[in-house]
Amino acid sequence: MSGALALALVAAGVIAGYWFGARRRTADLPSELAPAPAAPARPSLSPAQVLRGEDLAGRAERDARELAEELRPYLVDVMRQHGAVEVTLWRHAGGDGAVLEIAAWSGDGPPPAAATWGTVPERALVAWSAAEQMVGFERRDGEPRIAICPVRFASGEPAGAIVLAAADRFATARDALRDWLPRHAAQVGRLASLFAARNEVARQSRFTRALLRIARDLQRAHEPDALERSLCDYAVEVTGGEFAILLRWDAAQRAGRVAAFSEQAPRAMRDGVVTPGSVAGTACLEGSASFWEDARFLAERGGLLRDDDGGVVAGSMAVLPMMRGSAAMGALVVGASRPGVLRALEIRNGSVLSALAVNALEASWELAETSRRSRTDALTGLWNRRHFDEQMERVLHETDRFGGSCALVICDLDYFKKVNDTYGHDAGDAVLQQVSAVLRDGVRTVDICARLGGEELALILPQTSYEGAMELAERLRQRVEATMVPHAGVAIRVTVSMGVAIYRAGDDAKGGLFKRADENLYAAKHRGRNRVVG
Ligand code: GH3
Ligand code: MG
Ligand code: MG
Repeated sequence: MSGALALALVAAGVIAGYWFGARRRTADLPSELAPAPAAPARPSLSPAQVLRGEDLAGRAERDARELAEELRPYLVDVMRQHGAVEVTLWRHAGGDGAVLEIAAWSGDGPPPAAATWGTVPERALVAWSAAEQMVGFERRDGEPRIAICPVRFASGEPAGAIVLAAADRFATARDALRDWLPRHAAQVGRLASLFAARNEVARQSRFTRALLRIARDLQRAHEPDALERSLCDYAVEVTGGEFAILLRWDAAQRAGRVAAFSEQAPRAMRDGVVTPGSVAGTACLEGSASFWEDARFLAERGGLLRDDDGGVVAGSMAVLPMMRGSAAMGALVVGASRPGVLRALEIRNGSVLSALAVNALEASWELAETSRRSRTDALTGLWNRRHFDEQMERVLHETDRFGGSCALVICDLDYFKKVNDTYGHDAGDAVLQQVSAVLRDGVRTVDICARLGGEELALILPQTSYEGAMELAERLRQRVEATMVPHAGVAIRVTVSMGVAIYRAGDDAKGGLFKRADENLYAAKHRGRNRVVG
């Protein structure tokens, strides 16, 4: 046997389940990702596994037509050899395998519909023979008019049955047919498996081409948000999954968070932290890929991202850590809403993608970190003046564009010089940090909290009314007043003064906003401090 043929037959055995949409069998236990596809045949492919964006229905139809054409010559030979008038090949029509359809036949044109073939008892006999894996004749004794033989894939997986029909009786006697039929069935099983192998190779080659294109694209991508988002889309593309989530993992902190997700990602998994006890956290800690064909079993292991998020109740799921050296820097979580959609072969593509993305992602994250640092105030962790100026411009622009109003609040610590003078500069620093934290924790994520310099802090509040801004400023003022900063055995208390100003869409005095807020701050100081003026 030539090497190529041997290889083809091995491949045929491995993936024979593809052809015909053979009886689906869902794995009983969660299976860890194997380095290579396991020897037993996998359950049949679902169309969702084929590359997204391709004409799935068209491809399935073409595959079915080609299969019928490939097998017809052999079925015709069988027909002639035994003096039959027709030979049909029946296959399980997906689902639970109880329903059969005619995949190929000895006649011209498309095979007939199973429901119109023969009589009800005859169709039942075909189903029985395929299910029980027994040769069957339509009559108990004497020469039969219908002969049925079950077909298995090269892997041994049941595939369906071949059915010979004679006008009156066959040219071959009943006992000889009993001998011949299994040999024909074995040959049809082999041919079908080879056909499946060919389709699988073509499919894998499409995935490989996609991976090569992605590797090229990754090289060019630098903007972190775009890169993260495209990685999720790529993961969906090469695995045939329905959604993907990119996690960023900090090995030193043993913690992670969701960095990006694809369109179909479940709402509950779109943001938040990733804990070390969760399924994804464990995969990152151990640096090993995990794969569940049936994710119902995942819930028993704890949450997917967080210890208590309840895991995933349905579908298939894979966690593919992205390794930098021996530590994970992130992971791709790929999922589908039905069990069995993700298979080991596709998951391997996902692992290749994870590995390909590591360098690009690391470079991009480092760049983003450098940029963040250059916009952050080292003492307080708030944004610095540079970022404040840019964001102010952006928010004013957006207010004009989308309408409504935005607010600016400038805060200044009262008698701060006295804090320094009384308790020392370090105490002053601690107070500044604590007040900054109160402000930062008291605003929405869309608000921008910055240190303008010295002990002057500012809040940019997009889409906020005058009343809203005044209310927030007053609440924050009270919180600062109630805050005690422990330092060297004493509790230091400070207050802040705040000036509030509003910009409404269309106002022409953009530049005046800061000046008005600053004037109001001055007024607050003038009226005795520890107050809000707007
Ligand atoms: P007022 O109520 O009028 O604002 O009084 P004030 O004392 O807060 O105002 P002033 O502008 O006179 O003093 C501000 C002080 O803030 C002076 C400076 O030493 C101190 N300061 C500025 N930046 C820092 C800092 O980063 N750390 C510490 N510890 N002090 C700072
Ligand atoms: Mg001050
Ligand atoms: Mg000041």
